[in-house]
Amino acid sequence: DSITGSLRNSINKIRHKDDAAALKKATTELKKSLLKADVHHKTSKELITEVELETKKNGIGQDSFINALKKELNEILSTKGNQGFVFSNTPPTTILMTGLQGSGKTTTTGKLANYLKTRKKKVLVAACDLQRLAAVEQLKQIAQQVEVDIYFDDNEKDPVVIAKAAQEKAKKELYDVLLVDTAGRLAIDEELMNQLFEVKNAINPDEIFYVADSLTGHDATKTAITFKEKIGIDGVVLSKYDGDTKGGVALSIAHQVGVPLRFIGVGEKMPDLEVFIPDRIVSRLLGLGDMEGLAEKTSAVIDEKKAKEVSKKIKKGEFNFNDFLEQLAMMSKLGSMKSIIGMIPGLSQMAGPIKDMDFENSDEIKRIKAMIGSMTPKEREQPSLINPSRKRRIAKGSGLSDVQVNKILKQFKSASKMAKKLSSKGGMKGLSNMLG
Ligand code: GDP
Ligand code: MG
Repeated sequence: DSITGSLRNSINKIRHKDDAAALKKATTELKKSLLKADVHHKTSKELITEVELETKKNGIGQDSFINALKKELNEILSTKGNQGFVFSNTPPTTILMTGLQGSGKTTTTGKLANYLKTRKKKVLVAACDLQRLAAVEQLKQIAQQVEVDIYFDDNEKDPVVIAKAAQEKAKKELYDVLLVDTAGRLAIDEELMNQLFEVKNAINPDEIFYVADSLTGHDATKTAITFKEKIGIDGVVLSKYDGDTKGGVALSIAHQVGVPLRFIGVGEKMPDLEVFIPDRIVSRLLGLGDMEGLAEKTSAVIDEKKAKEVSKKIKKGEFNFNDFLEQLAMMSKLGSMKSIIGMIPGLSQMAGPIKDMDFENSDEIKRIKAMIGSMTPKEREQPSLINPSRKRRIAKGSGLSDVQVNKILKQFKSASKMAKKLSSKGGMKGLSNMLG
């Protein structure tokens, strides 16, 4: 049961125009669902008191309850401080990544690097986790994957020295951003804190991010508070939000720690990072979608001119296999389907099966890619050329059976037909009509 579902339940307890008893029922339901979702009890109490006051002020009814809920959720999520990524006036903007072991620091370092790279920034990551044997190797692989530079030194044992040298390099070579990945521990200990403190003093970062594992529930908040007291933190990044079925930590962590939530991690892949913007999240929590967030996410990845070309082709029924491969590459840059679907109003409730679709690794996609790989450039441009003898050749070349090739070609044909129909009905509207 998601937090969105239970918020909707509480909203449904109150009618268009209603009385104090109904409001009480709605807030009782609200309280129950917030606590069940792991929202901190202090946050929950404050929220409910304010929602009650605000609803009464504007006349008890469903609309005023929803508005009050929106307003107060927004207030609670809007902790004073920076939002998203903030660049320093004197580059390189230096960010120190901190957190417990396994919280997602290294992954988040890669995700942030990817986020910045997509926005045309020159990024350097520094490998300062010298505790775990494979830590440097992990960051190397991630840096290679997102195509950013990495600073590491296999002969150096002191993270302070590495951090300083990385900063020197970043300054000299005019990097926009330096992200410093550090070691974590299983629990807070003095040694870890001292080490982080030394790295902090050596490089004087613009901001310190604390990566909190949302799956650890209330502990995420507790540990964040300790990190804030001991070394100071400027932002929280909540990781593994995709696996957190309760979802309440996102609602209370910033409020309890007193530091803004800056990003959330919504999957294991590099694009699975979202800027945390309170009113957008509130809209999603209430099941109202986040079209603005979706537009932003897609605009960073999608080349608008190309998108227009493709939609023209679809309209004319000329969509071919090259276009398909391009679209596929774009989709995988957008990250997991799950995170995208939550942004489309109403779709998150409807679209069960596509939520778990994996555009890179599903067998289906692998087969299609193999098939396209065995086509000649002409066949890719003009699928209608593919006659039975060509089909047999393609099947042989790709290691698929004739039946499989036939099936994929048929699917492709009907998909392009469908797309053509949809595009003439007007994009999203067409899609939602089709869905229900
Ligand atoms: P570190 O020890 O803090 O550097 O943690 P890592 O970055 O190595 O991450 C630990 C594990 O959590 C890895 O298996 C990551 O793939 C996984 N992970 C990190 N962030 C996310 C996330 O947002 N969603 C999911 N599902 N897994 C994540
Ligand atoms: Mg790590």
